[in-house]
Amino acid sequence: MTDSNTAFDCRMCGECCQGVGGIVATLAEQQRIARYLQIGLEEFQKNYVQQKGSKSFIINDSTGWCIFFHDDKGCLVHPAKPRTCRAWPFFRGNLLDRSSFEMARQFCPGIDPDVNFEDFVFEGMEYLQQHGLSLDLEDDAGSALRTSDIPSRTKP
Ligand code: SF4
Ligand code: SF4
Repeated sequence: MTDSNTAFDCRMCGECCQGVGGIVATLAEQQRIARYLQIGLEEFQKNYVQQKGSKSFIINDSTGWCIFFHDDKGCLVHPAKPRTCRAWPFFRGNLLDRSSFEMARQFCPGIDPDVNFEDFVFEGMEYLQQHGLSLDLEDDAGSALRTSDIPSRTKP
C-alpha cells in the first residue's frame, strides 16, 4: 500500500487467506510463484494447484487456509502472490456496492474502521491503477478485478 493511503493497511492477519474456493491463479501467476519457489511449473501444479472447470486455483490445506499461508510468517509467496491477493480489499463489488464495502470493512482489520465509502473507492482505484491491477471490461466478465468501468472519483 502507498504511504498516502489511509483507507487500508494490511495487518497480515491472514483472514482473507482462508475459505472455500481458493484463489484463482492464471498460468502466468503459477509460473511466477513457481519461479519464486525455485521449482518447475509441473512440480508446482502437482503440489499446489487444483483445476476446477477452466480455472486453476491454489489449493487450501486441511484446515481451509491457503496452502501458502503460515501462522507466523504470513504469505509465504508474498512477492509473487496472485493479483487477486494483491488487489484485495479493492475488489469490484467493494468499490461498487456500499453494503459490500461495509461487510469487507467488518471482515478485514486492515480497512480503517472509520474510512467512508467514497475515500475507500478513491484510494482503491488509485491503488489498482498504480499497480496495474485494474482489468479492462473484456478481460474477464466475472472477475473481481474488472474495475475499468467504475467511474473515477476526485478526492472527496
Ligand atoms: S497466496 Fe498468499 S496472500 Fe494469497 S491467499 Fe495464499 S497466503 Fe494469502
Ligand atoms: S484480512 Fe485484511 S488485514 Fe487481514 S491479511 Fe487480509 S487484507 Fe490483510
